[in-house]
Amino acid sequence: MTTARVGVLALQGDVREHVALLEHLGADVVRVRRPEEFAQVDGLALPGGESTVIDKLSRQFGLAEPIRAAIRDGMPMLGTCAGLIMLSDRLIDAIEGQQTFGGLDVLTRRNAFGRQTESFEAELDIPVLGSDPVHTTFIRGPVVEEVGADATTLAALEDGRVVAVEQGNLLGISFHPELSGEPRFHQRFLDRVAARG
Ligand code: GLN
Repeated sequence: MTTARVGVLALQGDVREHVALLEHLGADVVRVRRPEEFAQVDGLALPGGESTVIDKLSRQFGLAEPIRAAIRDGMPMLGTCAGLIMLSDRLIDAIEGQQTFGGLDVLTRRNAFGRQTESFEAELDIPVLGSDPVHTTFIRGPVVEEVGADATTLAALEDGRVVAVEQGNLLGISFHPELSGEPRFHQRFLDRVAARG
């Protein structure tokens, strides 16, 4: 099997952690800042960070339209936290003029957990990843408030709030598996890239 070549959107955020985890899983990883770099990859991971900054920089660097076109074309993508925000079709508590790439038929609330619980950890059962619980780290994370007909819920908190969704080759999660050493989402993403050939 040839090694999958995937990109990590490297405009802002926890780029290094995604690169390290994907390389650990055997992928050939390109840091994507320019359209020429994006053109070399068969999948894209969108890191956590600050979605308003990632939005602005992706437009300035001429990446927003190529990424939207790739989403329409079915390119596998994995978004964590701000990355989930960038893949959401609709936002609550966006700043004025904030845009997303879209692709996930969901309504996502930014900074959903408020100040007091800005960061927390939880063990979640996520059946599609197997029987071992997933250790999750939330950092000023978003929550998916409405899952549209085209998207599927992968994981929810005990109180029912949705924190991981999937639609076709797009995977969006509120938390940070790249920080807790949880490889199964990234592996699922790489499997999608490999399956697409
Ligand atoms: N609050 C951030 C945003 O709106 C996301 C936080 C994160 O990615 N850790 O982009």
